[in-house]
Amino acid sequence: MRNQSIFLLGSTGSIGTQTLDVVRNNPEKLTVFGVTGNKNWELLAKQVNEFKPKVAVLADKASEKQFRNAVRHEQTQLYFGHEYIAALVAEPEIDVVLNSLVGFSGFIPTCKALESGKRVALANKESLVVGGELIKEHLGLAEIKVFPVDSEHSAILQCLVGEPLKSIEKLIITASGGPFRDYSLEGLEQVTVEKALKHPNWSMGAKITIDSATMMNKGFEVIEACWLFDLPLESVEAVIHPQSIIHSMVVFEDGSAKAQLGIPDMRLPIQYALSYPDRWPGDVPRISWSEAHTWTFRPVDTQLYACYGLALQAYKDGGYAPAVLNASNEIAVARFLNKEIPYIAISKIVEKSLEQINETSTLSVDSIIEVDKYSREFAQTLTI
Ligand code: MG
Repeated sequence: MRNQSIFLLGSTGSIGTQTLDVVRNNPEKLTVFGVTGNKNWELLAKQVNEFKPKVAVLADKASEKQFRNAVRHEQTQLYFGHEYIAALVAEPEIDVVLNSLVGFSGFIPTCKALESGKRVALANKESLVVGGELIKEHLGLAEIKVFPVDSEHSAILQCLVGEPLKSIEKLIITASGGPFRDYSLEGLEQVTVEKALKHPNWSMGAKITIDSATMMNKGFEVIEACWLFDLPLESVEAVIHPQSIIHSMVVFEDGSAKAQLGIPDMRLPIQYALSYPDRWPGDVPRISWSEAHTWTFRPVDTQLYACYGLALQAYKDGGYAPAVLNASNEIAVARFLNKEIPYIAISKIVEKSLEQINETSTLSVDSIIEVDKYSREFAQTLTI
């Protein structure tokens, strides 16, 4: 494969910095066309100085001066404002857009990248949750254009190599269950921000860490799997696997099941999204087979994880429900992180927001933006 040029959206976040690790390890295969950051201008400037991309976008215009002063590589074109991210994804030099933006902000760049024929390595699962219906012509496995960066979907893609697609009976998506998997319902009332941010197995950004604790993240991932692998909701099931070693499984029509295993490390799914269908050497840790291991599984308790049930229901309802689900969840999580609301109010805000939907117009990018905006305002002012 020739050298691929990557436009890395969200380069200063957890997936972004790990993607740059993958680039560092594969300099003959990968180059960085562009990097984008939200507020962290210092890290973004360091990345520009090291990777010498063609473009860099800093969304936060207020830090323009500091950022310009910190950039040493003068050939990099600097842009200020989130709108430039979507404006640049169609640039002819780009081979693959790696979208690791957080939340709904990733939706328009995903649309624009697919419209301009780019491959998309997708870590921004909200793009699919909110807009799967609108971009479904670009999805499915017949000709892959969207490569999952999520560990579960990467596992499924790896299990499906060489398999006839019609032979899939079921996808089993594993979930760690987050830090509260052994809590009672009453115990959830005592959850603090500090406890919720301590994920037992993965090191990730704040928003997805909370989404993992509530299992909204797993609900999003089930929806993501339905779109990516073109399957009905009944064919996708989540199971709690506290050790996070098996990243997901596929059950085939003959009763055989395939799994993909590894020590949790996002650099593997990131690299696979870029190397597919090849594999490249990787320096991620290996499972030690000379030690004893116990790997366990248990069903998802939908009472303990109310957000998980709400996500599946929103997908079943369709229309604007997934957009409202995502918008209200983003606001509820932000309010929890700000210590404005207790942990258990997150699912209640989402539930109340879903009850308010009365939009029946045909889905379009503009109408989704409108519903997203309205749902945010509603979730922001809701008192629980
Ligand atoms: Mg995941």
